[in-house]
Amino acid sequence: MDSFLKDTAKSLLGSGRELKDLVVVLPNRRAGLFFLRYMGELIEEPTWMPEVRTVEQLFSGLAGETPSDDLSLVFEMYEVYRQLQEEAESFDRFYFWGELILKDFNDIDQFMADAASLYRNLSEIKTIESDLSYLTEEQVALISQFWSSFREQKPEEKEKFLRFWQILGDLYQKFNAHLDVLGLTYSGRIYRKVASKIKELNPPAKHHVFVGFNAFTKTEEVLIKHYIKEFGADIFWDIDRYYLEDRRQESGLFFRDYRKDPVFGKTFPEIIPDRIKDKAGVIQTHALPLKVNQANLVGGILEGLGPDEALEETVVILPDEQLLFPVLHTLPGQMTKLNVTMGYPIRNASVYAFLDAILDLQRYLKVREGEVFFYHKQVLDLLALPYLQDANRVFVKEMKAQITSTNALEISAVELAKGGELFGMIFRKTGSTEIFDYLSSLMTALAMQLKEDVIQSSYLFQAYKLLNRMKENFAKSSLEGIQTDFFIKLFRQLFREVKLPFEGEPLEGLQVMGVLESRNLDFKRVIICDVNEGSFPPGGGINSMIPFNLRRAFGLPVQEQNDAIYAYTFYRLLHRAEEVHLLYSTAANQGKAGEMSRFIQQMQVEMGISKPNTVLLEAHLTPGREISMAKTPDILQSLNGYVVQGDPSNHKKKLSASAINSYLDCSLRFYFRYVAGLKESEEVASDVDAGVFGSILHKAIELLYGIPESTTERLITVHNIKRIKEQIPEYVDEAIKDFYGKKKEDKINLTGQMQIVREIFVDYIQAVVDYDYKTGDFKVIGLEKEHHASIPVAVDGEVKPIGLFGLIDRMDIQNGTVRLLDYKTGKDNRSIESISSLFDREHKKRNKAGLQTMLYAYLYQFANPANQKPIKPGLFNVKEIFKKDFNPFMKVDKSDLEDYSDFREEFEEGLSRLLAEIFDPEVPFEQTDDEEKCRYCPYKDICGR
Ligand code: SF4
Repeated sequence: MDSFLKDTAKSLLGSGRELKDLVVVLPNRRAGLFFLRYMGELIEEPTWMPEVRTVEQLFSGLAGETPSDDLSLVFEMYEVYRQLQEEAESFDRFYFWGELILKDFNDIDQFMADAASLYRNLSEIKTIESDLSYLTEEQVALISQFWSSFREQKPEEKEKFLRFWQILGDLYQKFNAHLDVLGLTYSGRIYRKVASKIKELNPPAKHHVFVGFNAFTKTEEVLIKHYIKEFGADIFWDIDRYYLEDRRQESGLFFRDYRKDPVFGKTFPEIIPDRIKDKAGVIQTHALPLKVNQANLVGGILEGLGPDEALEETVVILPDEQLLFPVLHTLPGQMTKLNVTMGYPIRNASVYAFLDAILDLQRYLKVREGEVFFYHKQVLDLLALPYLQDANRVFVKEMKAQITSTNALEISAVELAKGGELFGMIFRKTGSTEIFDYLSSLMTALAMQLKEDVIQSSYLFQAYKLLNRMKENFAKSSLEGIQTDFFIKLFRQLFREVKLPFEGEPLEGLQVMGVLESRNLDFKRVIICDVNEGSFPPGGGINSMIPFNLRRAFGLPVQEQNDAIYAYTFYRLLHRAEEVHLLYSTAANQGKAGEMSRFIQQMQVEMGISKPNTVLLEAHLTPGREISMAKTPDILQSLNGYVVQGDPSNHKKKLSASAINSYLDCSLRFYFRYVAGLKESEEVASDVDAGVFGSILHKAIELLYGIPESTTERLITVHNIKRIKEQIPEYVDEAIKDFYGKKKEDKINLTGQMQIVREIFVDYIQAVVDYDYKTGDFKVIGLEKEHHASIPVAVDGEVKPIGLFGLIDRMDIQNGTVRLLDYKTGKDNRSIESISSLFDREHKKRNKAGLQTMLYAYLYQFANPANQKPIKPGLFNVKEIFKKDFNPFMKVDKSDLEDYSDFREEFEEGLSRLLAEIFDPEVPFEQTDDEEKCRYCPYKDICGR
């Protein structure tokens, strides 16, 4: 297949000029590499190759200057900005604006706009007409339009804009003067410098040929026209009649203007190629449900490549870099050679996660009495990464277990440093002056670990380069007293934008590239992904501080030009392609239905390309497969562990009320947790969720009404309740310390949220004590006491004792009644519709707390078979306890439950029947039909719910 660059090389060879006397100027470096390769293929004898340059190199060469990097420039701009603005923003806040302003200054210079006029306050129409009379009527109208709509804005907004706007003019001027002093520059300045002194240029020693340009900036236009007119330079256009002749086609926007231009016009070929019009037959469009499914289709298309095909004649264009790795993973086995040419953001790499967690670690550390503590979240994030695990697996495992089991919110640096050298390097406090050394030593240590991992090492290298540039800039700048926090914010801001420039051997293998990387290149087979509106062409508009009308009036590019550039890049890929696949997804994105790009719609209407081929998903991608676990011998054996041998209190496996409730909610969930033993992951409870609240509350009450070790009961009278009440705050503090693994004498620093919750604990417990005071003396006979029991169940034709257990919060005796009380922090209610409703899995409002309290009564009676006293279960429910007529006891069918024995038979029968089902070999464990129950289920990933 011939390509534009190869055709150009042929023309130059046939031009009769010596190749060594030529300079070929192309829009980018990659095009130059391809050009030289084609030239090499065409030359039969060894000879000097022409000099190949990018347009940027040409300008830099003429000016004798090279641009500085953006970070240094923004640093310098900030210096000037601080002199102009009394209440200057901090540098990290300014950085974002600084980048935008620099981009605008670059545009202003590239397009040779008058910065002083642009940044003037032109709110007076007369000023526009008199002072800008050199502009065209259309330009004046655009400026007037902007300022008249501006006049209608609210006064505060106007003032804000003007304050900022007026500084920009000064900033432009003073920043440029500042750069002159320092000998620094940016590319727009270089271009402007060359274009404004164009008349002074000496004729070049070599003949210049400009190849494959589309949209020139004003300065490029000035220079290239001058070369053509004054020095006889040539220009080769890569165009097609399809968009050049049709005014509606945005891709021809620039070429149509250039064809009318007195200088450029003469350089257009007499016969314009007309290739696109016949391409309808080779273009296939594919609609896919999800973006990521496109990767599978790419793999499928590539599988169809013949064994003798030259892989480098196929390109996969990825407008969105997120598809890079999915595509790479689906490449067929024969794709042994590959060239990826695109930037891939570092924020998707694991070294990013590492450095990000390190920055957070430093940001949230605390120093107390000279000791450094780190917040558990960042510590756990770091311990979860492979780098620390590889350094000391045993330590990481033990430390994670220790943090979760003690609910440690903060971990001391001393403890963490015990993991070894790397741990010591990471877990230490770094000051703002040492942060560069801290990060750079960590990066070096990590690089040693990652020697074999080319991609992660490359990311690390990019991050390291960035750090060094920041270090140099900070060292030069006059920024004083830089806080660590400030540095972290800035580093993170810059770091997020770092891209790994994938650039392999460009001339070999399958080509995978971004949209703009494909400029000037031709391929036989073109596969373009994400041909969705908003992606190709991209949406979003131009990022600029200069309002649209002003950009237009002063000749700066606006969205229309951007669209034209993308449209040309798209249609150009069709020029010589013999097979084109356009893939787009129909999945909604940010609330909008996935829409094919207007390029496809246009081609359907104008060229009559075939309708999209809708790709259906493979069956294995269909969500909602059913899971059913038959009771295999292994499962039955595991269940058999619940059959009690001997005394239930010595038996290990027993079922709790939670297990039974879990089975009724979803038998598969019960299987995962209580049969297969898939534990839900333990987390440090830092937020005050119901679990934390319950644990602390129970402990505090246990401390309040605790039974002395020497006896088995404690009488609480209305007289001593008063004294007990005074001790509530003290016991609450002790319970909080206990929860976080602290000793009674330790100091504890409560977070703001925890301080509020502490007050709630105190109020709640006071309400419990007030209730007890009102209802008179009682005798506590047990607090937080474990109870064990068994119940006879028919299992496989035999009656077997199944183990049960429960932890009863409080047992007391009042007026001859045993009260079994549970402290509840959730929405549980005390009303049981009927005993059978407790086992009804279809019942929408099945009372789980009801089943629990009844089970406690069973457990109590089992442990005390001689008991003749009535047993009354109840709930101290946080939702109700503050009500005046609060009553904690359960009701069955709207009547007070005065004694468990009234319902004992019915409850035990229901429970035994349910347990028989759990052990029935014929009844599988199945997913619940009620997907609402899956919402917070820890196994929903397994179920795909
Ligand atoms: S996700 Fe739903 S179906 Fe699966 S185990 Fe959990 S509750 Fe049951």
